[in-house]
Amino acid sequence: MSDLQRPASPKIIAIANQKGGVGKTTTTINLGAALAETGLKVLIVDIDPQGNASTGLGVESEMRAYTSYDLILDDIALTDLVHETASPNLSLIPANVDLSSADIELYSNEKRSFLLRDALRRPDLLEHGYDFVLIDCPPSLNLLTINAMVAAHSVLVPLQSEFFALEGLSQLMLTIREVRQSANPNLRIEGIVMTMYDARNNLSQQVEADARANLGELVFTTVIPRNVRVSEAPSYALPVLEYDSTSKGAQAYRAFASELLRKNHLLAA
Ligand code: ADP
Ligand code: MG
Repeated sequence: MSDLQRPASPKIIAIANQKGGVGKTTTTINLGAALAETGLKVLIVDIDPQGNASTGLGVESEMRAYTSYDLILDDIALTDLVHETASPNLSLIPANVDLSSADIELYSNEKRSFLLRDALRRPDLLEHGYDFVLIDCPPSLNLLTINAMVAAHSVLVPLQSEFFALEGLSQLMLTIREVRQSANPNLRIEGIVMTMYDARNNLSQQVEADARANLGELVFTTVIPRNVRVSEAPSYALPVLEYDSTSKGAQAYRAFASELLRKNHLLAA
């Protein structure tokens, strides 16, 4: 891509929404793949104990000797933590069920909210020269998600185009405000991206109209359509961009990545 700039330091984005099934993991994987396709170096950090991003990128549970749990709580060599994926420039630190206990273990730690932030500042990790770090959060506003928000420059919120989608957003916004006040004053909202959009469905259109009316500029212009190729791709352990490069879903994630890069002044308008 011409006119593409690299961020001066790794841009860290937490992909969060306490609702499950809204497209967090799908957006993490495919935004990551779309950014990586432009030549940017991308690291995905899976902090959901379900490990869906890890599976979706081909790192099966038996391959996960070390996980983001070790990134946060242990001192493990980066070569043991980071997996390369089928997509060039796209790397992963996986997750597994160990992380569900981390949420509890963290509470007794004085630095409980800052562990991921500090881990991502490891000199050996910075040396890798990642341009983007995308953190796939669990469906909860627990301490793991707080760690992601404290570590991040911004929060990206996938919003499923269905009834009740906007419910829960105020709680999420409140949490972002609390993190700003307590631990990360510069935390921004990267934006809200509508997922699983069905243009023929009145409900999708209504939810989009409501979101744009209430949240204005925060809502990305690009919407991600509901597309069966997107939902099939993880079972082939590939981003949809690799699984079916010309599908509507792949095209949408590319357009979304471009919009995000433009918003960050890394790509000319
Ligand atoms: P979350 O991480 O928020 O729980 P997922 O990304 O796992 O949500 O998505 C939930 C389900 O919806 C998954 O089965 C996924 O394949 C499917 N899905 C997500 N986005 C799309 C899309 N654009 N089109 C079709 N299916 C989708
Ligand atoms: Mg998920």
